[in-house]
Formats: sequence, C-alpha cells, structure tokens
Amino acid sequence: MLDAEFFRRWMTTTAETVDREADRLTELDSAIGDADHGSNLRRGFAAVTAALEKDAPDTPGAVLVLAGRQLISTVGGASGPLYGTLLRTTGKALGDTAEVSREQLAEALAGGIAAVGRLGGAAAGDKTMLDALLPGAEALAESFAAAAAAADAGALGTVPLRARKGRASYLGERSIGHQDPGATSSALLLRALAEVAA
Ligand code: ADP
Ligand code: MG
Repeated sequence: MLDAEFFRRWMTTTAETVDREADRLTELDSAIGDADHGSNLRRGFAAVTAALEKDAPDTPGAVLVLAGRQLISTVGGASGPLYGTLLRTTGKALGDTAEVSREQLAEALAGGIAAVGRLGGAAAGDKTMLDALLPGAEALAESFAAAAAAADAGALGTVPLRARKGRASYLGERSIGHQDPGATSSALLLRALAEVAA
C-alpha cells in the first residue's frame, strides 16, 4: 500500500528530475513552442517541494491536491493549470484514506487525465502530454515499471505527430519531427513514480 510519505517522495523526486532535465525540456519547447517548459516546471515543482516541507499533508490525496494547487498558482504556461488539474483531480479521487493501492492510484490517475482532456480539449494523438499520460496510466494497472516504460514510449511516439493543441499547433506541419515537451515531462513524472516504488 502507498501512504502519504510515498506520495511526498513521488513529488519531490519529480521535482529533482525536472530540475535535472529542465534544459532538455526547454530545448524541446524551443523547437515547437516558446522555450519555457523546463523553467515553468522547475519553478512549479520547486514550489511543490517547498509547500510539502512546510505542510506535510498526512494522506495521499491531500499531498496531490496541495501539489496541484502549487502548480496552478506558480506556473504561468499552459502546463501549470493542466498538470495542476491532473494532480488535484487525482488527489480528490483518492479521498482521505491513509493508504491506497497501485490499482486505486491507476484508477484515480485515469480520472485526472480525463480532467486534463476536458480542460485543454485535447485527445490521444494530438501531440500533448496526454500521449504519455494515457498509455502510462493504463499500464499502471500492470506495474509501476510498465507505466514508466509506456509513458516513455508514448513521449517518443509524439515525434511523427502533428500538434493539434497548444502553442505547437500554430506550427501546423512544421511541428512534425519533434518530441512534445509536455509528453516528455509526463514521462518524467511516471519515471519518478516508478523510481520511488522500486
Ligand atoms: P506554454 O505552451 O503555455 O508555453 P508549456 O511550455 O509549459 O506551456 O507547456 C507546453 C506543453 O503543454 C505542450 O508540450 C503540451 O504537452 C502541453 N499542452 C499544451 N496545450 C495543451 C492542451 N490543450 N491539452 C493538453 N496538453 C497541452
Ligand atoms: Mg512553452
């Protein structure tokens, strides 16, 4: 079973990973966006870590709700409200139990991803974070490692796609041939989850 400490470590490990990979995320965003995805997420997850140090919520749901709120209030780009909605909705779905199973997390995460789809109007294949999140959450029913691998594959799979949502969609055909920055950071989120679980 996964407790609040597990979820805190998931968030702080994500913050460390995002910090390490920020330059790569920004580089990807410079090709098909405005070169701020790494700095956006670095700022957002640094705020998440700071809030969790100050507050230390005692349920998995409360950890994710707090993290989501921080992302919404500190990240200016599209990814802030989208990731914030993902974590807040997932956290709310987990309720106020002290421990949740991987299967429960997989189900809650699927709900969070659906909320991202409603907020941003994107679907699978639109070359967004959903292209890593959807296969990642589905594989989470199987194992943490499978989720990380599926999200990585999903992020790589955005390369040949044409962007239909977000800033990259303004490029039309020219968005083809580049990996989506948000799908890449979503793969980092699920990679961090698998690391903490290992
Ligand atoms: P901005 O585009 O405002 O500069 P970021 O650079 O931080 O914000 O984030 C860009 C990423 O956000 C994209 O790579 C994409 O994965 C994701 N994204 C943008 N718009 C949407 C949307 N409508 N639905 C889902 N994801 C989106
Ligand atoms: Mg950007």
